[in-house]
Amino acid sequence: MIAYSSVLRRALMPLYEAIKGKQLLHYLSQYEGHLQWTPEQLESYQWEQLQKLLEHSFSSTAYYQRVWTELGIRDARDIASMDDFRRLPLLTKDDVNKHYSDLLSSRFSGNIRKSTGGSTGVPFSFELNVDSNTRREAVMWRGYGWLGAGLGTKTLYLWGADVGEVNRAKALKTNLYHRFYNRKMLNSFAMTQSNMGSYVDQINQFRPEAIVSYVNPLYELARYINEEGLSVTAPGTILTGAEPLHDFQRSEIEQAFNCQVFDTYGCREFMLVAAECREFGKLHINSDHLVVETLNNEGAAVVGESGDLVVTDLFNYGMPLIRYQNGDNATLVDKPCCCENPLPIMESIDGRKLDVIKTPSGGMIPGELFPHLFKEFSGIRKFQVQQLKLTELKIKIVVGQDYDQDDQRKIEQEINKYSLGELALKFELVDEIPLTASGKHRVTVCEV
Ligand SMILES: [Zn+2]
Repeated sequence: MIAYSSVLRRALMPLYEAIKGKQLLHYLSQYEGHLQWTPEQLESYQWEQLQKLLEHSFSSTAYYQRVWTELGIRDARDIASMDDFRRLPLLTKDDVNKHYSDLLSSRFSGNIRKSTGGSTGVPFSFELNVDSNTRREAVMWRGYGWLGAGLGTKTLYLWGADVGEVNRAKALKTNLYHRFYNRKMLNSFAMTQSNMGSYVDQINQFRPEAIVSYVNPLYELARYINEEGLSVTAPGTILTGAEPLHDFQRSEIEQAFNCQVFDTYGCREFMLVAAECREFGKLHINSDHLVVETLNNEGAAVVGESGDLVVTDLFNYGMPLIRYQNGDNATLVDKPCCCENPLPIMESIDGRKLDVIKTPSGGMIPGELFPHLFKEFSGIRKFQVQQLKLTELKIKIVVGQDYDQDDQRKIEQEINKYSLGELALKFELVDEIPLTASGKHRVTVCEV
């Protein structure tokens, strides 16, 4: 039997692309070809593409022209090395909001506009030119491909779906589109404790070769499967993304699905940034498509320790995002992976900086404390700590059957160690914790 993935890639997609004038397959082969390169070739290719982007941005966007000129740059060629590049100012979400139209290239029109609710609920939009959108799709398929979930692989997505009413014509179109790509979508936003059984049934009916999912919903589902002792069709591979994957979540998911889990890292502004390799589970960075840096609090480049992630898309000519700080943290390392993939690696994605909780006497409790603390309590399904007043911490928890009244006392004890007892702890048992506008679960919220 011929696999659908090869029919899709060899026959259906070329036809579709010829009609649509799209170049996904062309870019996909090109990017896959880069995996035969040496790290040095990749580095010089990146620098070449970066120079083109800098020239383009300086000559066709009012924003970079103004900001760089103020720094004494008269020509993009003045940025003559990676060191020079690393001295260029950072770009934040605020900058994009404030200088939106000045960031658009005068040479491009008909960009694609994308919006996100953002983790803080503040809406954020940006644009990219059509060709660069095709390129990032190709980069995504390359990464998914080396993990066994490439173009045309029978894949089940447990992912956030369209919010709001979808009319029948649109639903039909979306359905056909997913069938073309050989995938089935399950809406992670709509999954609750009471309908998880039907999610398991649908997975068993579809028998996917790959599962791609947000971390938290798949972890929830895995816990349910393990607790109920259900059996699930084991896929060949599982890819997670969109939220940080903790070790305890990975092992719970692997146990439930009897399948290895691989993490991917991406964000709305750049799509797939890095994906683990099958051999060593190292996150390989798409350095032939993006420039990825990490900086310490003083703005200096760091390697081997966690820093603010700063990314440049080499091909978004419509709205160049140069040295864009996306709010996540990561740790880069300066050594190659032992597998054959020449793309550089990062040690870890350290996640979105969780909100720090403050104490009245000026102390700070790192947000990362809370996931580590709460994972010790199997009766707590979800939690969120919320600080709306300096003297009080609200702890919202969704509990399961094995929740023990004594858990609360233990949690109080732990938190008091860090807060020195200065925070009044208010527990609230809730049915559900609302997700952010972008469908993610926020663990700590500090509004003081
Ligand atoms: Zn590797």
